[in-house]
Amino acid sequence: MGGRPVFVLSDDAERTQGEDAQSSNIAAGKAVSEAVRTTLGPRGMDKMLVSDTGDVTITNDGATILDTMDIEHPAAQMLVEVADAQEEEVGDGTTTAAVLAGELLSKAERLLDDDVHPTTIVEGYAEARDIALDAVDDLADADLDDDLLEQVAETSMTGKGTGDVTTETLADLVVRAIGHVDGEDGIARDDVRVHTQAGGSSSATELVEGVVSDAEPVHENMPRRVEHATVAVVDEAFGVRETEIDAEYSVESVDQLTAAMDAEESELRAYADALADAGVDVVFSTDSIDDRPAGFLAAEGILAFEDVDDDEARAIASATGATRTSKVEDLEDAELGGADAIRARTFGDEDLAFVEGGSAAEAVTVLVRGGTEHVTDELERALADSLDVVTAALESGGVVPGGGATEIAVADRVREAAAGVEGRQQLAVEAFADAVDVLPRTLAENTGMDPIDGLVDLRTGNEDEPGRAAIVASGEHGEIGDPVEAGILDPAAVKREAVESATEAATMIARIDDVISAE
Ligand code: ADP
Ligand code: MG
Repeated sequence: MGGRPVFVLSDDAERTQGEDAQSSNIAAGKAVSEAVRTTLGPRGMDKMLVSDTGDVTITNDGATILDTMDIEHPAAQMLVEVADAQEEEVGDGTTTAAVLAGELLSKAERLLDDDVHPTTIVEGYAEARDIALDAVDDLADADLDDDLLEQVAETSMTGKGTGDVTTETLADLVVRAIGHVDGEDGIARDDVRVHTQAGGSSSATELVEGVVSDAEPVHENMPRRVEHATVAVVDEAFGVRETEIDAEYSVESVDQLTAAMDAEESELRAYADALADAGVDVVFSTDSIDDRPAGFLAAEGILAFEDVDDDEARAIASATGATRTSKVEDLEDAELGGADAIRARTFGDEDLAFVEGGSAAEAVTVLVRGGTEHVTDELERALADSLDVVTAALESGGVVPGGGATEIAVADRVREAAAGVEGRQQLAVEAFADAVDVLPRTLAENTGMDPIDGLVDLRTGNEDEPGRAAIVASGEHGEIGDPVEAGILDPAAVKREAVESATEAATMIARIDDVISAE
C-alpha cells in the first residue's frame, strides 16, 4: 500500500472518536434519564408534552414521555429503546429502567475518567447485574392472593392521575378482569380490553364481562337489546353492488323499469334474508350498511352495527366464537357465534355496543369514563400498566417490596459482593451498587424527603431484614416504613427487566468509541 489515503466515508459523513464520542454519548444518555427522573414514584410530577401539531399529552408515564419526546441523538435513542423494551416485556418500570441506565452511564463516565478500561467496566457491570438479579429473586414472594394482587395493581397506579375514582376501586377491577381471563393455558392478557369513553365521571368506570365497541345500531327500529343472541361478524358492505363501472342500461318500457327496480330491491333484501335464514339476531359489519338494507334488517328484527373497528370485530368474533365472513349469502352455521346478551347503551349523544357473555371465550372490557380525554387517556395508561403488573406478578415470579426497598437490598448485596472481586473490576461492581441507589434516592427526593438522610435511614432499616425498609408515601409526604405492611409491592419481573435492560444499554453505550453518522 502506498501513501495514498483511502476514503471509506463520504464527504458529508460526520465522525466523532475516542473520548469525545464516549462523553457525548454518555451526556446524551444522562440527559434523557434526567428528563424523566422527576416523574419517578407516587409523588412524581407530570410532564406536559406538546407535539408539533399542537396535540397535548399530560402524563407521568416514562415510556409515553420518552416516546413522545423528539429524541435524535443515537445514544439517547438507545435509552428510549430501553424504556420501550421494558414496556414491551413487563408493561411497567419504564422510568426506573431509564433512570438506572442514566446513572450507570454516569458512574461509567467517572470510571473512564479514572482510566478504567471500558471492557473492565462492561465485565464488572455484567457481574454486578447477575448478583442483582439473584438478590431480586431472593426477595420475591410468589404466594399470591387477591389482596396482594390488588396491592401490586394499586402500587403501579399511585401517582397517575385517575380523576375522581380511587386507585383501590380500579385495582379491584383490574384483579377481577385478570381473574376472568386466567385459564388453564395461563392468562389471556389480550382478552382484557380497555375502552375509553370521555364524558361522565371517572368513578363510573366499570368492568364489562364482554366486548365493548363504538358501533351504533344502523336503524332506529332495531331492537336495542337481544338476549341469547346468535351473532354474525361480516366484512361486507350491505348495499347495491357496483359490478361494472358505468354500467348503464337503457330502459325502453315501464316493464323493464319495474324489472330493474325489482332486481335491485331483491338484491338489497338478500342480506336480511340470508341472515334471517341463518337465524342471526345480531350482525356486526366492519363495512357500511346502506339505509335500505338496514330497513330490511330492522323489519326482520335483526340488530345490526356498521363500521365496526377491525380490532373490535376480531375481539367480538373471538368472544362469541363467530368466524368472520365476507359473504353473507354463503353464511354457514359453523360461522355463527353466540352471546348471552347484546345491547346498545347510550352515553351522552353516542351509542356503544355491548357484547356480553360470549359463548367461546372469556373477554372483559374495562370501560373507562372520565370528564375529558386527558383524564381517560391517563386512566387508560394507568390501567394498562396495572393489568400488566398483575399478569407479570402471576406469570413471572411473584412480587417484591416496593418504595425503594428492593433496590436498597440489591445495592447492599452487590456492594458486599464487590469486596470479593479482583482487580479494577471491583470498582465497576461498586459503581453499579452506587448507581442502583439512585432509585431510592430519587423516590425520597420526589416525596419531599432529604435524599441523603433518606438513603442512610433506608440502609439502616434494611440491615435487620432486607427489603423491609422503604420510602412510604402517604398523603403529601414520604417517610421510612415497611413496604409490605403498607402494601407497596412491585412485580419481581419489573425489577429484573429494569436491571437487565439498563445494564445492557449502559454497557453498550460505554463501549462505543467511534460514532460515524451519514448526513
Ligand atoms: P416506573 O415507570 O418505573 O414504573 P413510577 O413513577 O410508576 O415509575 O414509580 C414506580 C416506583 O414507585 C416503584 O419503585 C414503586 O415501588 C414506587 N411506589 C409506588 N407507590 C409507592 C408509595 N405509595 N410509596 C412509595 N413508593 C411507591
Ligand atoms: Mg409505574
